[in-house]
Amino acid sequence: MDWYVDSHAHASTAGLGYEAVVREFRRSGGRLIALVGLTPSSYGLETSLDGVLKSIDIHLQLCGKVREEFGGVLCLAGVHPATVDRLARSSRSLDALYVDLVERVLKYLERCVREGLADGLGEFGRPHYPATPESIALSEVLTVKAMELARDYSLPIHIHSKSSGRVTSESLKILARYARLSLERVLVHHVPPTQAPTYISEGFYVSVVGRSEVLSNLGSRCERVLVESDYLDDPRRPGAVMYPWDIPREVGEAVSRGTLTPDCAREMLQRSPLRYYGVEL
Ligand SMILES: [Zn+2]
Repeated sequence: MDWYVDSHAHASTAGLGYEAVVREFRRSGGRLIALVGLTPSSYGLETSLDGVLKSIDIHLQLCGKVREEFGGVLCLAGVHPATVDRLARSSRSLDALYVDLVERVLKYLERCVREGLADGLGEFGRPHYPATPESIALSEVLTVKAMELARDYSLPIHIHSKSSGRVTSESLKILARYARLSLERVLVHHVPPTQAPTYISEGFYVSVVGRSEVLSNLGSRCERVLVESDYLDDPRRPGAVMYPWDIPREVGEAVSRGTLTPDCAREMLQRSPLRYYGVEL
C-alpha cells in the first residue's frame, strides 16, 4: 500500500505528543489522520466543565499546529461519554450539568467549527461499560444535539458506544433520524469486525482497529469500513490500542495471508475514508 489513512487516533500531552505522532505517521506513508480529542484527565485537567472546555482548547490548538505543519490532519472535538458519566456521578445538579454540556459546551464547539478550528465532532455516544441511567440518558441527549450540529455544518461525527450489533445500530439510527443527520456522516468507531456488516448495511460508516486478526475477520464487505489505530498516546499503556504507523504492516499481513483482498485494503485505507471525510488528497 503506497499510502493510507488512519481514521481515528489520539495524541496527548502526556505521551509522545501531537508532533511526534503525526511526524511518525507521515514518515510511514500516512496521508490523512483524524485526531480526536481525549478526556480532560488525559491532558492533566480535572473533570469539570472548565476542564472539558480547556481540554477542547488544548486539543484543537495542538492539532491545528500539526495540521498546519504537516498537512493531512483532521481535528475532531467532542465530549467522550466516559467524561459525561464521570461528570454525572460527581455533579451536584444534573439540571446544571445538562445546561453546561448541552448548551455551553456545544455552543463552544460550534464556535470552534465556525472558526475553522474543528473539522468534525467526536467522540460522542454512550459509555461502553455499566453506567448510571441518568448518565446514559444525558449522553444520548448530548449525542443527538451533537448530531444536529453535524447536520447544520455537514460534519463527520464519531460515535463511541458499546457495540451490541443490531440494538446499537437501530438505536443510533433513531438518534440520527431524530437529528435529521444523514448516516453518511456518522462513523461508529472501534466496531468488532463481525458486527461491521450490521452497521454498514444500514448506511453507517464504521471503523475497525487495523490489526491483521481484526481485518481478517471482516468477511467480504468492506465498503464504508475505515481503519483506525485508536492510538491513545497514554504513557501508562504504551502502544495501545496500536501505533498508527503499524497499520500498513498489519494490513500487509492480512493481505499476504489471503484473508483480506488487496482491493478491500485499498477501499478501507484510501477510498472509503476520503469519501467519508469529503477530502481530496
Ligand atoms: Zn478513540
